[in-house]
Amino acid sequence: MLLYNSLTKKKEEFVPNEPGKVKMYTCGPTVYHFAHIGNLRTYIMEDVLEKYLRYVGYDVKRVMNITDVGHLTSDADEGEDKMVKGAKREHKTVMEIAKFYTDAFFADCEKLGIKTPDVVEPATNCIDEFIKVVEGLIEKGYAYLAGGNVYFDTSKLKEYYVFNNFDEDDLEVGVREGVEADDNKKNKNDFVLWFTKSKFEDQALKWDSPWGVGYPGWHIECSCISMKHLGEDLDIHCGGIDNAFPHHTNEIAQSEAYLGHKWCNYWFHVLHLNTNSGKMSKSKGEFLTVSLLESKGYDPKAYRFFCLGSHYRKSLVFTYENLDNASQAFEKLVARIAQLKNEGEVDSAKFEELKKSFTDALDNDVNTSLAITALYDVLKADTNDKTKLALIADFDRVLTLDLISHAEKLKNAAPAADNDLAAEVEKLIAERAEAKKAKNFARADEIRNYLSEKGVVLVDSREGTTWKLEG
Ligand code: AMP
Ligand code: ZN
Repeated sequence: MLLYNSLTKKKEEFVPNEPGKVKMYTCGPTVYHFAHIGNLRTYIMEDVLEKYLRYVGYDVKRVMNITDVGHLTSDADEGEDKMVKGAKREHKTVMEIAKFYTDAFFADCEKLGIKTPDVVEPATNCIDEFIKVVEGLIEKGYAYLAGGNVYFDTSKLKEYYVFNNFDEDDLEVGVREGVEADDNKKNKNDFVLWFTKSKFEDQALKWDSPWGVGYPGWHIECSCISMKHLGEDLDIHCGGIDNAFPHHTNEIAQSEAYLGHKWCNYWFHVLHLNTNSGKMSKSKGEFLTVSLLESKGYDPKAYRFFCLGSHYRKSLVFTYENLDNASQAFEKLVARIAQLKNEGEVDSAKFEELKKSFTDALDNDVNTSLAITALYDVLKADTNDKTKLALIADFDRVLTLDLISHAEKLKNAAPAADNDLAAEVEKLIAERAEAKKAKNFARADEIRNYLSEKGVVLVDSREGTTWKLEG
């Protein structure tokens, strides 16, 4: 399987550290608000990667953190903790909003068919691990104390800007975002590992540490949670592209400084979902959530289908028009599947042949749009329905569009529509009989014509009127 690696900027053959096993880490949500559908695009594409690795036989262990402390309003170390801000907004405690939005996140994931990772670990569960690694970094000379905080010293590294397609000036995060620079830092991109002093005195959650009462920085959370559950060597680390700098850059810096060796081999970054006016965010424009789409009548799986239609390494523009197109295509696809009959024997030669275009697509850097094409090719293929249904069910182990169950639902809904029609026809036949009795032939004809337009033929006889569907 070829996978694009942001670290080497090349598509590479994917080879895990241990044959047959994959250790995968995903940056989880910061649970101060609902996830927007942009965040969820990232989780959908990561879900496809994970499921495809399982599909081809890897034993995958995937870990995700829940950021419930330490993520400041700037991705650098300035600003208020997002969680504290969220709690103030809702007049709740930090732990209350963490629970509420963690549950909301997984409810959205379920609707979108995103599997819950094998391990989900809130940052606030791992304070001892953070302290241990920060102590190790100080001992090894990679971290220093200044103004009450512990900082990582980026000048100690041979190479800090590992995702070096960034312009160095763009990397001055704090300065760029118009927040005053932190004078304690020896180098402009040094970052906080542990805070005891912050301008924001009302940080809700604090813990004792060798450097005083305080709280961890955001970056250290992911390094430690990954090492806690996946050990010293990681195969794949995932996240949205905005996390490449500073978050993932800092994760690599501190993990490799602490471990003394290379930490993660493959970096999988999903490009953004944008609106017409730029990157989707929670504070700008309409706050697009899964529930909002549902309230407008969209099936969450149609949004997943929309995402799968584009490659994860291309940014994707969300408009309602684009979503409508995807939704209609999804409905048509389901309707075509609903017409397949569960008859015949699976033709295993055809099955393997058609499956190959699906695996070829996903083997080539998770090309989901070509995988969807492979699905349409199954519908067009010269083989029996049983083989087609088997292939669709097989592909859906990765795609998770619930194609078969959507098709079943559609089939079951059809008789209900017939029942509605039958009730209407019976009612009109009775009304027509009354009209005839009252010599209101115009109304009687009107009813016959109306039903005829709907394909209903009335048959009058001495016993009364019966009806049948045309053709
Ligand atoms: P957060 O909850 O802010 O920590 O972000 C959760 C995930 O969503 C991270 O992997 C981000 O990189 C990713 N992300 C943020 N904005 C977008 C976007 N507009 N499109 C796709 N992914 C995003
Ligand atoms: Zn992370």
